[in-house]
Amino acid sequence: MQAGAQGSTRKILVIEDEPDIVRGLRDALEFEGFEVMSEGNGADGLRAAADWSPDCVLLDLMLPDDNGYRICETLRQRDPVVPIIILTAKAQEADKVRGLEAGADDYVTKPFSVAELIARINAIFRRQARLATHEETFEIGQWVINTRKHTMQRGRVHKRLTFYELEVLKLLRERSEDAVSRDDLLEKIWGVTPAPNNRTVDNFIVKLRRKLEEDQKSPKHILTVYGFGYKLVP
Ligand code: CA
Repeated sequence: MQAGAQGSTRKILVIEDEPDIVRGLRDALEFEGFEVMSEGNGADGLRAAADWSPDCVLLDLMLPDDNGYRICETLRQRDPVVPIIILTAKAQEADKVRGLEAGADDYVTKPFSVAELIARINAIFRRQARLATHEETFEIGQWVINTRKHTMQRGRVHKRLTFYELEVLKLLRERSEDAVSRDDLLEKIWGVTPAPNNRTVDNFIVKLRRKLEEDQKSPKHILTVYGFGYKLVP
């Protein structure tokens, strides 16, 4: 296998059941210097992702054995960082949102241009390289929060953080000397003007605690300041 222009060869796993598309992708990607492995169903795709550790996964949504969104979620649970690009014939906005919520990084709609797909793959790799040089982490209890990768890690457990989850943690941390009011969180994170009976922040904190706290009933890190807001104890 011919190595790419810079450094080691990047490995791309294609999970796609249409032979013509697989053939076209393989030719184009290998021509670009990538190493390619392809699998025609979700179960084999997941196995290959685990065994082969690809640098990027191209995932078709309509596979013979399983729904691509579920495969995407499983891939994402097992590996919080590997880039996943969804390939699909479905162009509706709802499908894109669902794919991104399932943990995909990008999305191309069939019929796609291979040149465009390769440009997107390269853009993801460039973004990763940039982030790797500016890594930034902080700790909450035993969790290591990575603000670039949007992950939290404790030992072998990795979880993904959404944009809002990370922003809330960052704000609470910046001001961990004091408590942060609900109104401040609403304004600064969600850009919403505070209104009475707005439960956005409280509902959100409940979910965030579920991710972060050993015991949600007696949280140790995100404390409630009654009638005011929240305080982080790292
Ligand atoms: Ca298919």
